[in-house]
Amino acid sequence: MRSKLLAAASAAALTSVLLAAPGTAAAEPVPRPVAADRLSVLVPSDLVPPAPTPEELRRALGRIARASDGRVRIGSAGRTNEGRPIRLATVGHGGTRLLYVTQQHGDEPLGTPAAVRALWALGVPDTAWHRWLRSRITVDVVVQANPDGAVRNQRYNHDPGASGPYAEPGVGYDINRFHNPLTPAAENPVPESRAVLRLWRATRPAVVVDYHMQGRYLQPDGRETTASILWPTSPLAGEAAVTASRRLAVRNYDAMRLLAGANVTRYPGGDYEGIARNAYGILGSASLLVELSNLPADRVEFQIRSAFVSMIATAQGAADRTLWRADPARADTVEERGPELPGAATALRRADAA
Ligand SMILES: [Zn+2]
Repeated sequence: MRSKLLAAASAAALTSVLLAAPGTAAAEPVPRPVAADRLSVLVPSDLVPPAPTPEELRRALGRIARASDGRVRIGSAGRTNEGRPIRLATVGHGGTRLLYVTQQHGDEPLGTPAAVRALWALGVPDTAWHRWLRSRITVDVVVQANPDGAVRNQRYNHDPGASGPYAEPGVGYDINRFHNPLTPAAENPVPESRAVLRLWRATRPAVVVDYHMQGRYLQPDGRETTASILWPTSPLAGEAAVTASRRLAVRNYDAMRLLAGANVTRYPGGDYEGIARNAYGILGSASLLVELSNLPADRVEFQIRSAFVSMIATAQGAADRTLWRADPARADTVEERGPELPGAATALRRADAA
């Protein structure tokens, strides 16, 4: 019964969220949209585990490249200090570029399986809608940006010589503090951050979404928050980029709530320009942070699905341009994240600075 109700809610949400708003002047026909949540049924259930090792990720991406007949291109954005490739997967050939980044913090894995599934869902099927989508946009995904951290289940990259701000001595650097676009690359000690910055400069994406995980929090209404989002808050980010980012946030807020059933709040993030959310807003992209709560094991699939819906809805909104019709003022109505769930302190608490 519950699933039927959810299905009905999803169908209604499809109409309200994903159907293009009534026409602009351009009379270009847009194929009927595919619901972001429904695309997941196309993805093989054994494609990728919830927290893949770099080797499991390599195999999953190879499988997608073959199944998509080359429509999903696999490469690397750079190499880590231990020589691991920083996986880059690209789908589409349209002029509007998007960049998704997952797992900068090695112990925050769930954006990675979501991205793998999204790459399959966007690149393997070859319907008219898929061909249309891929003709409009190009999505680059830095999948598991921190493989050295992933193999250690640690937040930081691997750099035993790390020192200074945002370093854990003897361990490594916090990759998500080294995207400052004002820092010359030669002075940036973090290869993973340099790789994402280099990719940004090569592709100039209109949209950047960075996927993380947070602890567990309650909302004012007593429900548990399942995800939090935030746009650039650095005073260095220009007004146009911040407005576009707020539209991106509203679009994600609607899609994750209505299509994935997520409880979404506003993430209490800082203004530092080395954080990817701020850095890519400063550079001019619509930029968004998505934080999935670290829910118990039986909710992991739900969380992966939330990120998957975010990725597909963002891609679709960029392709049909409905993304830019969202009301940016509605970003202010996203409730602030509430207090921690009592007794639910997790290892991710300290990751709460995204
Ligand atoms: Zn994080």
